[in-house]
Amino acid sequence: MKIVESINAYLLKSLPVDRFIMCYHDSEDNCDCRKPKPGMLFSGAKEFNIDMELSYMVGDRWRDIEAGINAKCKTIFIDYRYDEKQPESVDYKVGSLLDAVAIITNRSVYEQD
Ligand SMILES: [Zn+2]
Repeated sequence: MKIVESINAYLLKSLPVDRFIMCYHDSEDNCDCRKPKPGMLFSGAKEFNIDMELSYMVGDRWRDIEAGINAKCKTIFIDYRYDEKQPESVDYKVGSLLDAVAIITNRSVYEQD
């Protein structure tokens, strides 16, 4: 937990991030924040007054995508070709975070302006 918090503290100093929301539970704890449950997404949405249906959940694991679906977000799956369970349905499937950004911003991040 301490390592995660140091990483987050470093990222907060380096990037324009509003908040990190973490779940430190295991599946056996049966909390409502462990993905694919959408509790963390709802808590962030409430704090920042975010419309889920206008939002994107980006992730590289099936749990991320299912959490996004459960929260009624649009979903973007970054397929790093992990040898594990895949999401059953997804709005967009991409090969990198940069491709996800291009979808969200509706422009190619490779273009020069
Ligand atoms: Zn939790």
